[in-house]
Amino acid sequence: MFATRKSDHVLETAYSCVRWFLVPTSTLLFFKYYYHTTLDLILYFTLFIFAIAYMTGTEIALHRSPVDSMFYRYMTRIGVVMDYLTFLAVVSLTGGTHSPLYPIAYLVLLHASLYWSLIGAMVATCMVIIGYIGIVLTIDGGFTLGEMPRHLFNFAFLIMIGVIGGIIVSRERKHFVEKDIFENLAKKDYLTGLYNHRSFQEHIRETMVKQQRFALVMGDIDYFKKVNDQYGHQVGDAVLRSIGTLLDSMISSAYGRVFRYGGEEFAIILYTQDQHIASDLLRQFMDKLRELEFGTEQEKFHITMSLGATIRDKEQWTTELVATADSLLYAAKEQGRDRIVWG
Ligand code: GH3
Ligand code: MG
Ligand code: MG
Repeated sequence: MFATRKSDHVLETAYSCVRWFLVPTSTLLFFKYYYHTTLDLILYFTLFIFAIAYMTGTEIALHRSPVDSMFYRYMTRIGVVMDYLTFLAVVSLTGGTHSPLYPIAYLVLLHASLYWSLIGAMVATCMVIIGYIGIVLTIDGGFTLGEMPRHLFNFAFLIMIGVIGGIIVSRERKHFVEKDIFENLAKKDYLTGLYNHRSFQEHIRETMVKQQRFALVMGDIDYFKKVNDQYGHQVGDAVLRSIGTLLDSMISSAYGRVFRYGGEEFAIILYTQDQHIASDLLRQFMDKLRELEFGTEQEKFHITMSLGATIRDKEQWTTELVATADSLLYAAKEQGRDRIVWG
């Protein structure tokens, strides 16, 4: 999704540049060739003021507000309607369908396809053709037989650009959606929805580059084999899923990241060097885990976990750090399970 927004942002910025280029160009054209009456002047001036106000608003949205804010979304989507109205007004004021600015129609089609794909492009094509017919009837002085080939070619090109633009955008959207799906498949664990072992190796390396000190916690479910033996693997899987959901809900991406390290083992990276903060969070997790109930109405059971936690304080590399956390986890098991051992 992020890649789509980024590419839309680049296109919106390009559109904005085109508009800033078209305003002086059409002003020059208007005053040199098409300005005849005071009404023309009033209409052009009104259009000019609206265009500058809208373009300034768009600039603020593009450069000052976040891509997912309401202001950004409205300003960029309203842009399609604004471009359409501008097309009608500018072409009407600069000689009708003969206007050198008539190709703005193609920009409107491509802009609509950017947000609403093929359907958007088709709707925009219909709207532009309706507007075109209106301009022919009111400004050009009606359809004449001699001008018919030009009009028909214009209609054909509008439809072609609309269809091609729409297909290109919907293909690009499909590609982004598939990319997201494949990225998720490669990075996440199917059962728990947590990041997988491969992501852990990548993320811990990235974290090491960004910060010297952070907490690494290795966790292992206590007596999990018994759960499988007594209640079956499906119940075991449900336990793993619940732990994944709980960990994910408790450790937001701002504080750290949770991974299914393997089997019934989890790894947690916490972006803090404060043992008390990390310890509080882990204790809250263990309390909530103890409250979870599994099994059937007749036979309920609870689950606990043992955790080995350490703060990276030297230039430790991944293997060394994981080995330290692992040995602390082993110590937690030795000391009776259902506890955190720091070291
Ligand atoms: P301890 O307290 O010492 O950790 O005891 P334990 O029984 O949890 O430890 P052990 O390593 O002997 O057992 C781990 C079990 O986890 C064995 C394996 O069947 C089970 N397991 C690993 N992955 C999965 C899974 O994806 N689903 C299910 N249902 N079980 C799994
Ligand atoms: Mg184990
Ligand atoms: Mg275990």
